Amino acid sequence: MRIRGSCMICNENASPETYKELFIELRDDNVYEIVCDEGHCSTIILHENKFELLFEMGVLAFIDGYYREAVTNLAASLERLYEYYINIVLLHRGINYKDIMITWKNVKNQSERQFGAFCYLYLLENGTSPQTFSNRFVEFRNNVIHKGYFPAIKEVIEYGEAVLKVMNVLLLYIINRYRKEVAELHFINQNEYRDRIKNRNAQLYSMSIPISIRLSAPYEIPENSFEDMIRNRKDFRIFIK
Ligand SMILES: [Zn+2]
Repeated sequence: MRIRGSCMICNENASPETYKELFIELRDDNVYEIVCDEGHCSTIILHENKFELLFEMGVLAFIDGYYREAVTNLAASLERLYEYYINIVLLHRGINYKDIMITWKNVKNQSERQFGAFCYLYLLENGTSPQTFSNRFVEFRNNVIHKGYFPAIKEVIEYGEAVLKVMNVLLLYIINRYRKEVAELHFINQNEYRDRIKNRNAQLYSMSIPISIRLSAPYEIPENSFEDMIRNRKDFRIFIK
């Protein structure tokens, strides 16, 4: 999987006709140290959160006809949003980010533990249980991921709509209530990525990419359904093979 990027030095005065794209391999550490054909060294750091990138991969996997992979990516996106929420609430409660990371090590390999942490933190914050989706979707996800089930297109769309609904409610709630912590976590993450840069002489750029779901303020619940997102994404995709 690669993303569309570009050398900012080459494209400084480019017109739409002369603008050159670079296709960069997607990285887990979010630090893209690139050298273009002209030999310019630059480093790109993406603004997007992991749950946003994973959701986009789910949409694109669906478009490409990989329905099992669509379910896997959508499920992973939701799990990473739970992790995101946990971090946000703990920052909100004044917990040091270093301590959050140390504690995360105890749950990082088991998504059920993470979901448990999410539920109880949500309960502590709100006095009610979070909105989650029905057990049949959990079963569906487990069948696809663990039992090699081949899902029907209709089932994947239904699952996508359910994941999107839960995520939208949570995202809107996060942006309304924890705007300060969203900015704080973004700042922490960006600094962490910068610490990983090896070539300190390269030009450094931050880049935001157009994807289906995003937390950047002002966040509004997209009116689009999962099916609409699929339709819209067919014209332009940021991830390519
Ligand atoms: Zn260049």
